[in-house]
Amino acid sequence: MLGNDCRFGYDMAAVNLHLSYNFHRKDQNLVSSLAEGQAPPYMIIACCDSRVDPCTVLNLPPGEAFVLRNIGNMVPVYSAQSACSSAASAIEYAVLHLKVKHLVVMGHSRCGAVKALMGIEDDGSNRFSEFIEDWVLILKNASKKVKSIHKVAPFAEQCTACEKEVVNASLWNCLSYPFVREKMASGDLTLHGGYYDFVSNAFESWTLDLSCLNDVDKVQ
Ligand SMILES: [Zn+2]
Repeated sequence: MLGNDCRFGYDMAAVNLHLSYNFHRKDQNLVSSLAEGQAPPYMIIACCDSRVDPCTVLNLPPGEAFVLRNIGNMVPVYSAQSACSSAASAIEYAVLHLKVKHLVVMGHSRCGAVKALMGIEDDGSNRFSEFIEDWVLILKNASKKVKSIHKVAPFAEQCTACEKEVVNASLWNCLSYPFVREKMASGDLTLHGGYYDFVSNAFESWTLDLSCLNDVDKVQ
């Protein structure tokens, strides 16, 4: 455990990190505008994976996207008890306070989180971490669905299918948040799925069909 006398240094050169992004020089008007506040049109939920930074992939400048990154770009289902949820608080802030127009869940190729989810034995006997399984298992239905539909496919193909299924499952879970449904119903928010294959440098996107809102309301 860290003691109270622990000190942290700020020798950024030691870890080869330095400020190189110079949008201050490029667009002073943008800096002045952002100094007053942010009004991003997009919220993007993406994976922590170092290869798939969403603003780099989509060429979005500062101020365009409110970004949540977590293991596997996953959204937990709404719960009134989720007071410690990073995802829920970020979605609430983006939708209700920033009033983003588009919520995008972006999956990607070769996702280690999805591979972990797909590799978990039903009895949990191959558990390998303290936290990771518990997190990715919030979308265990996605892996079950893929294993059921793609029974005979090689594991790598199953994982690719699950990477997209996780996006859809997360979008579906977004609909469990009452304020998301309300904004969608009023036409102020659109949900999108996205998938980035960084190996072939291909990006595909799709929009959640509004008609499913009725189905969600029926099961509430
Ligand atoms: Zn990932």
